[in-house]
Amino acid sequence: MSSSRSRPVIVWFRRDLRIADNPALTEVAATGAPVIPLYIHDPALDGRPMGAASGWWLDKSLRALATELEERGAPLLLRSGDPEATLRVVINETGADAVLMNRMFEPAAWERDAEIAHGLKADGVACRGFNGTMLARPGSVRTGQDAPYRVFTPFLKALLDKAEEPAPRDGPRTLDGVAGLTGEAVDDWGLHPLRPDWSTGFDWTPGESGAREALSRFLAGPLTVYGEGRDIPGEDGTSRLSPHLHFGEISPWRAIRAARQAAKDGRVPGKQAEKFVSEVGWREFSTHLLHHFPYMAERAFRPEFEAMAWRDDGEGLEAWKRGMTGYPVVDAGMRQLWATGWMHNRVRMIVASFLVKDLLVDWREGEAWFWDTLVDADMGANIQNWQWVAGSGADAAPYFRIFNPVTQGEKFDGEGKYVRRWVPELAGLSDRWIHAPWTAPTEVLAAAGIRLGRDYPAPIVDHAMGRKRALDALEQIKSARDKD
Ligand code: FAD
Repeated sequence: MSSSRSRPVIVWFRRDLRIADNPALTEVAATGAPVIPLYIHDPALDGRPMGAASGWWLDKSLRALATELEERGAPLLLRSGDPEATLRVVINETGADAVLMNRMFEPAAWERDAEIAHGLKADGVACRGFNGTMLARPGSVRTGQDAPYRVFTPFLKALLDKAEEPAPRDGPRTLDGVAGLTGEAVDDWGLHPLRPDWSTGFDWTPGESGAREALSRFLAGPLTVYGEGRDIPGEDGTSRLSPHLHFGEISPWRAIRAARQAAKDGRVPGKQAEKFVSEVGWREFSTHLLHHFPYMAERAFRPEFEAMAWRDDGEGLEAWKRGMTGYPVVDAGMRQLWATGWMHNRVRMIVASFLVKDLLVDWREGEAWFWDTLVDADMGANIQNWQWVAGSGADAAPYFRIFNPVTQGEKFDGEGKYVRRWVPELAGLSDRWIHAPWTAPTEVLAAAGIRLGRDYPAPIVDHAMGRKRALDALEQIKSARDKD
């Protein structure tokens, strides 16, 4: 692009709701062309309807981005509708001759963007995509046999070897906006829940400055003991960057560069910084996998798992969603999710295992609930992790490794801090009984003011029975596969 151009350029924002380290925005600012920052509200941006908690986040993140862009001289234009049709309307209104975007890698989004680029190009509008959301573009990290990786550890190594670190960029200070455009208002989209407002416990600051604050807080404290602290749900031991990363309010490079810099400066041990890098690597692995194996959004990555005899257990599923299973750590997790839009990773694994193994309910049911209720709901991460827990995924936990919700609770929440916070009706129980209240003597329960079945449920399933039932179901698919 030459700097003498005067026709405006559209920067189509999607999962890159930030100014800094934004390749599409940096590119257009460098040309000096007038810029139209555009967000198109399409509830199926990923190829599936957006979850409610994601809508809550998007509402605030867009407002934050709009403020930043306004200050720089180019207000954010909001429109809603089919992306291609909307882009064409804006192109006609403004005479824009280029659309720049940071790529989305979810399979349906990827295809849609390719079609849009093709269609616009045919009409003389240039369309350019950049990678602003991942450490490496899916497709760029491949095995020696030129295939996508299916195992995490070699993937991570190849990723860190091959990914090219971009120079950090603060982003443009001023932009040349286009006057006279009328858009919609975030309020028009009803993304914030009103009747009822279930978000009163959502304690988050969506937007780029919220992301920076979360990163600073993490570097100053939890990162120093991250490897161990990240497994303790009762402590604030992780970064809580997941929704910020999902919405592109911070680039993953900025996050890992800051962690590594903290190690270089001697503020945190190097191994802790690298542990954090490897967790961000799981985010990459998830996105790359879904990109290469789109069928895993609907079906088991390992085809034999499609024959699994999942149970139709509406009541069990409902008790799980409401945090009323009778297993304290499971219920604490599900209630944390409902109240805050987020759940600690260790507990995500425990509750997911409980649903797919103890209750033998299809992982897709759990994935759908998480999709609706998580502020960090992310197709790649959610699908990959659910399949990982179910045993049907790439590099998945072996199916026979079934979490015991009582011993998991005792191991990672030994003092019951997490359970007491989210299941307050059990707060009066001592550490000894808090993870298995049904084993407590009646007088202990009475002294803690609990009658099982009235104040807190008795377990909805016996773990030993559920475990055996799950293993039997696995045996069945294994023998069916061996017969084939
Ligand atoms: P940190 O420990 O600070 O990790 C840093 C970053 O690394 C995270 O922000 C995240 O981007 C990435 N990350 C960490 N662990 C994983 C992982 N296992 N898989 C992929 N990325 C990871 N994460 C999502 O972002 N969206 C989801 O929809 C999602 N669904 C999940 C479903 C299940 C059943 C499970 C077991 C895990 C899921 N995760 C998901 C992964 C993980 O639980 C969250 O990323 C993490 O808890 C976010 O908290 P944090 O930012 O404090 O994590």
